[in-house]
Amino acid sequence: MTSKIFRSIFLVAMCILAACFVMIISILNTYFTGVEEAQMESSLQFSALGVEQGGLAYLQGLDENCRLTWVDADGTVLYDTRSDVTQMENHAQREEIQEALTTGKGSSVRYSETRTEKTIYRAVRLSDGTVLRTSISQATVLYLVLGMLQTIAVILVVALAISMLLAYKLTNNIMSPLRNLDMDRLPDTPPYPELEPLLQKIKGQKQEIDKQKKELADKRLSMEFAEQNRREFTANVSHELKTPLQSIMGSAELIENGMVKPEDLSRFAGKIRKESHRLLTLIEDIIHLSWLDEDEPLRMEPVDLYAVAEEEIASLRPIASENNIQLNLLGETAVVQGIPQLVREIIHNLCDNGVKYNHNGGKVTVRISETEEKVLLSVSDTGIGIPQAHQSRIFERFYRVDKSRSKATGGTGLGLSIVKHAASYMNADITLESAPGVGTTITVKFKK
Ligand code: ADP
Repeated sequence: MTSKIFRSIFLVAMCILAACFVMIISILNTYFTGVEEAQMESSLQFSALGVEQGGLAYLQGLDENCRLTWVDADGTVLYDTRSDVTQMENHAQREEIQEALTTGKGSSVRYSETRTEKTIYRAVRLSDGTVLRTSISQATVLYLVLGMLQTIAVILVVALAISMLLAYKLTNNIMSPLRNLDMDRLPDTPPYPELEPLLQKIKGQKQEIDKQKKELADKRLSMEFAEQNRREFTANVSHELKTPLQSIMGSAELIENGMVKPEDLSRFAGKIRKESHRLLTLIEDIIHLSWLDEDEPLRMEPVDLYAVAEEEIASLRPIASENNIQLNLLGETAVVQGIPQLVREIIHNLCDNGVKYNHNGGKVTVRISETEEKVLLSVSDTGIGIPQAHQSRIFERFYRVDKSRSKATGGTGLGLSIVKHAASYMNADITLESAPGVGTTITVKFKK
């Protein structure tokens, strides 16, 4: 681009120079011709007066600088200030002589054979019928140029050098704002308005690249996070599966080796059944979670929260009454777009926790309510509550505030994780309010 700009400027400068040169030569030529012609005219008038009065003697007294030719009315050359008249041919046919003889005044221009010299003639008829003619020779433009070749060459070289220098400086001036353009921090106003569309395009592309870079970084981060989660999950699952299995194996071994008294047999069988049940619940929860992780699209359908809550409360009532816990359902029918199995899962896990982490004689209340934009399902209990420090983590997989209490009540540490996943599957939000010793309220907000 730099060399192209340089060449263009240089070429333009050269063209202008050449045009100026031609114009100056032709103006000078016209001007000097005019001046010479005027001089010729006045000197002819003056000489005609001299010849009228002094005749041949006047002409013979002139020097050779001025060429004067005296021609008789029949064309015979009577006298010439430069040539021998005996050698000169008859001038009757000369244009300027003919014109002077008929009109009194004549003029003509003739070129030499090589066209390098031009001769201008002026003639005037004297009172005795003869004609006095004067002439001057001029070099033509070509001859002038050739004569000035050396000077022209010097001027051309100087002009060439100046043009090159100017072209170089101009190119630099044009290019330097472009060279100094910081592509990382593009200016709001470009150095040249013509660059505006290009800059806008580059800015747009840069924004797009930045966006994609950020998306990639986010993706990488979330993949790393997912990978970390997967590792932790695998480690946790192995551990959680191992504990009940070891307990089952231990009890079975004792029975197998006859180390259990007949009266203790049913207690050991009960332990095996309880641990097996825990194992089964755990495996079911894991299958459930991994299915939710797949994010397989399921068809949403209208689900009546109130009806599902009624059924789940009924199924939990036996366990609740074992601990003297009251289960209440408030509100009325409210239909949301959801997946019945997931809604059931949410209500079951929240109510189950409300019962598990409650005091003897406590209360669990399920409320179904509606606002203009949402349908709310909230489960409140009067239980042990969750300390502030744990509140942001209880939705993580296998996270428990009190591990022993969770295990004692058959918890897997996956219940709230399933609730969170199921809710997000149905585009519902979850909020938690809890205070230790007061109780917990978890609210799921379904979009209408
Ligand atoms: P778990 O199977 O252990 O109940 P969850 O995922 O359902 O697992 O709950 C995670 C932890 O959050 C529980 O172990 C418990 O410490 C705490 N938690 C959940 N719900 C309640 C609640 N209603 N009251 C007090 N603590 C709760």
